[in-house]
Amino acid sequence: VRYYDWIAHHRRRAADKIALVDLASGRSFSYAQLDDRVSKLATHLRDRLKVASGDRVAVLALNTTDTLEVQFACFRIGAVFLPLNTRLTVPELHYIVGDAAPVVMIHDDDLAETALAVAKLCNVASARRLGPGGSYEAGIAAATPLARFEEVTLDDISTIMYTSGTTGQPKGAIITHGMTFWNCVNLGGPACISPSSVLLTVLPLFHTGGLNCYTNPVLHAGGTVLIMRVFDPAEALRLISDPAQGINVFFGVPSIYQFMAQHPAFATADFSRLIVGGVGGAPMPVPLLKTWETRGVALQQGYGMTETSPAVMVLDREDAARKAGSSGKPVLHTEVRIVRPDGTDAAVGELGELWVKGPNITPGYWNRPDANAASFTDGWLHTGDATRMDEDGFYYIVDRWKDMYISGGENVYPAEVESVLHQLAAVAEAAVIGIPSEQWGEVGMAIIAVKPGHSLAAAEIHAHCQANLARFKCPRVVEFVEALPRNATGKIHKPTLRQQFSQPKP
Ligand code: ATP
Ligand code: MG
Repeated sequence: VRYYDWIAHHRRRAADKIALVDLASGRSFSYAQLDDRVSKLATHLRDRLKVASGDRVAVLALNTTDTLEVQFACFRIGAVFLPLNTRLTVPELHYIVGDAAPVVMIHDDDLAETALAVAKLCNVASARRLGPGGSYEAGIAAATPLARFEEVTLDDISTIMYTSGTTGQPKGAIITHGMTFWNCVNLGGPACISPSSVLLTVLPLFHTGGLNCYTNPVLHAGGTVLIMRVFDPAEALRLISDPAQGINVFFGVPSIYQFMAQHPAFATADFSRLIVGGVGGAPMPVPLLKTWETRGVALQQGYGMTETSPAVMVLDREDAARKAGSSGKPVLHTEVRIVRPDGTDAAVGELGELWVKGPNITPGYWNRPDANAASFTDGWLHTGDATRMDEDGFYYIVDRWKDMYISGGENVYPAEVESVLHQLAAVAEAAVIGIPSEQWGEVGMAIIAVKPGHSLAAAEIHAHCQANLARFKCPRVVEFVEALPRNATGKIHKPTLRQQFSQPKP
């Protein structure tokens, strides 16, 4: 099946409709304007920078509408879009850029130094700077629109997207045009995506959450996307409350909702226009879901990963209260299984590893035959996530298998302990890791950040855990920190905690 260009399509239907708004610069682009810019950029990349079909084009920039222009220009010439994580250091990017070997590096002013250093280390042929006076704008201005789009099918590679690196070295997930398309289909219904959608995107576009929840689905549907350069809770609350913006769709990882809920403006913000507030990417504390419920917002939990582009499960809003904490049920075109270590299917209620299959699942990792061999069985991707299903068919992501630790012969899933810790009103952030113990093999250590203006003693934490958790699950040690280390996606980075507080796990 051929890939159809959404932007050109929506231009034919509604040329003057606003497709993209770049909040930082105040620029906005109708579908016609965006289509023109993308077409000229495509010519510039192909003819001036000699980007051939299959070549990678890297972008290292804080959120900007330009990143989406690069994506669509790549699609038109059959090139591969390579969005890069802006929080990584030069050595980390050296690994990724060396691995993906792009021929062009497009970057903004803020990341110029990093981008040029990495481009040099990795022998990237050309660099283009975004912004006024930059070579990116000059390239578009000088180019003629692309006369003929490259023939691209849904099986062709559209993007290489590196995973968040929460559990180790990021892996380049191969994303095809078909995967992105099926994600648009899978999310369209449950997230109520339509031409009337007005989305505020605050997550980074280099992550599947920012790009595909729901930026690409909203553009696929012909809606409007507002791009925030970097997430700012006060500004997000102000924009959502502003009737002139008309924002009716929003997505965040749990920490985004935590920061917004902790902001003084949360109490008076106007959420009445919000049809969907999606959340996923990490375990969502149930008390935080309840906090949003008190403001009339039933957040829609979902589960996904970079490799699944990303939606795998979504909880319908009608079920949000009754099944709080569940990631819902599989989306339309995706199959799931919960599998025991011996490869057989787990029973209802039994914990196992989640496996997924469907047209939105990656064909594999870039340059990683080892990871490919370890991650697939008969087309099923092993997610590494410990999961159970209840008697009504709702799924619960319990934790990552890798984060599980064994205390006195019993398996402990830190996420379960963390959710109990979050019941304490003074807890802002909580993480639990297993640390070595002579007596028990491993015991739990709770690392806590207390909310500003609150106080909390270790004894209160121990007492609360003992009242709510089996003895073997209760953390033996409590450490207090100002804030937990998080990766660019906002996920707690447990390898850093393990390094800081115990020996790294093998
Ligand atoms: P890496 O694979 O590099 O270690 P990562 O797994 O964090 O990083 P992503 O693809 O961004 O990279 O995240 C996918 C993971 O996020 C899932 O495998 C799962 O562990 C976690 N996750 C996603 N949604 C949820 C959810 N609703 N509840 C709990 N965990 C979730
Ligand atoms: Mg992962």
